[in-house]
Amino acid sequence: MKAKVKTLAIIGGGAGGLFAAALLVDCQSLIVTILEKTSRTGRKILMSGNGRCNLSNTLADASRYDNGAFAAAVLANLGPAETLSTFASFGLETRTEGERVYPYGETAASVLDVLRNKLTYSVIEEKCNFNCVDIRKTGDGFVVKSEDGAELTFDYAILACGSGASVKDYDALGLAKKCGLGIVKPNPVLVPLRTVNNIKQLAGLRAEARVSLYAEGKLIETRDGEVQFRDGAISGIVIFELSHTLITRVGHFRQIKLVMDFYKEKTDTELDEMLTARQRRGVEPKDLLTGVFNRKLAEYIVKDAAGNGELIRRIKRNEFIITDTLGFSEAQASSGGVSLAGIDPDTCQTPVDGLYCIGEMLDVAGTCGGFNLQFAWSSAYAAARSLRGRTEA
Ligand SMILES: Cc1cc2nc3c(=O)[nH]c(=O)nc-3n(C[C@H](O)[C@H](O)[C@H](O)COP(=O)(O)OP(=O)(O)OC[C@H]3O[C@@H](n4cnc5c(N)ncnc54)[C@H](O)[C@@H]3O)c2cc1C
Repeated sequence: MKAKVKTLAIIGGGAGGLFAAALLVDCQSLIVTILEKTSRTGRKILMSGNGRCNLSNTLADASRYDNGAFAAAVLANLGPAETLSTFASFGLETRTEGERVYPYGETAASVLDVLRNKLTYSVIEEKCNFNCVDIRKTGDGFVVKSEDGAELTFDYAILACGSGASVKDYDALGLAKKCGLGIVKPNPVLVPLRTVNNIKQLAGLRAEARVSLYAEGKLIETRDGEVQFRDGAISGIVIFELSHTLITRVGHFRQIKLVMDFYKEKTDTELDEMLTARQRRGVEPKDLLTGVFNRKLAEYIVKDAAGNGELIRRIKRNEFIITDTLGFSEAQASSGGVSLAGIDPDTCQTPVDGLYCIGEMLDVAGTCGGFNLQFAWSSAYAAARSLRGRTEA
């Protein structure tokens, strides 16, 4: 006898929700509805990678995530290679720069376009402006309620509401709580860090540096990369990566500092020789670093420096006291979220039968470089495969 067709609500039409729906377009045993809070789906995909969408990373493994073992188990079913071949089957051409994968056309819109095209000629319904505020388990199904009082019933549900990073009025973790799921306190990660140093004169500057994160005098991590200065805050990929470490591994802001080496290729002795040679040529103190660094940085370093020792310290060991992040409004991801307790990484089903949770809503945060989108695709695949299996059986 043919099995009865079942209904599925995908709550949240972002990266994970759209990918899960795209994987289910040909599933005859499920009628899928995407319920999206805002007026259009896939907004964060468009924001990602500065509009280029760094959609995956060929080196995605446990080491790139907090709760890495869980992330790796999810990725084991659909890793970067399988993700790219799935996207290729949707029509997306990609290019790989180092380990980072982008759409070939370097525009995030192509990722969203192929997902949308996949859904266009399907029976999958998209309900935008459906702010889901309640979800209740009833017998063998779910009643889902919108902010304006509409109630819909489904056999299965996927929570795919993302995180509060760069989102106004995020409250989706309350939905998970209503279903009895545990919540790990969310914190912004991949986010600029606030400093008490007066760096107004550096605002707008981008500089290469070797940056070391210290907590209570202990070295935590060192990374090389571009740093971007703002009035009162420091940003850039290297800082985003260190913010992830700071939040997930250190977890407090007591005696936190970033120590920057702006000339890692030269030792203290070599710098001393360089400065001494310039002084012998009669170069004025204020011009000692002219031609070495960007003018803003050179002026910041030489200002009121008393002697070569002080100059060298400022070049090689410039300290920035960090007191906080700039918060969710400026973050690219969130740590914390729906607790992984009882969630099966092979299916992303929660302890509530028929209720799945995917993407950034889960307590998994990757570092910079395409890892968060990769986790959204992989977890969406796990849920879609499980739902297909249980309804087609
Ligand atoms: C500026 C920026 C740049 C980024 N760049 C990259 C990058 O280059 N590479 C990378 O890997 N990651 C990047 N990320 C992170 C990445 O975008 C997210 O990790 C990814 O989108 C998570 O997918 P998701 O499906 O879990 O959530 P989302 O894509 O955020 O989708 C969640 C959806 O759920 C909807 N929703 C929320 N609450 C409700 C509700 N109550 N009812 C109904 N719908 C709801 C939201 O409106 C949204 O559409 C970036 C993030 C930001 C903010």
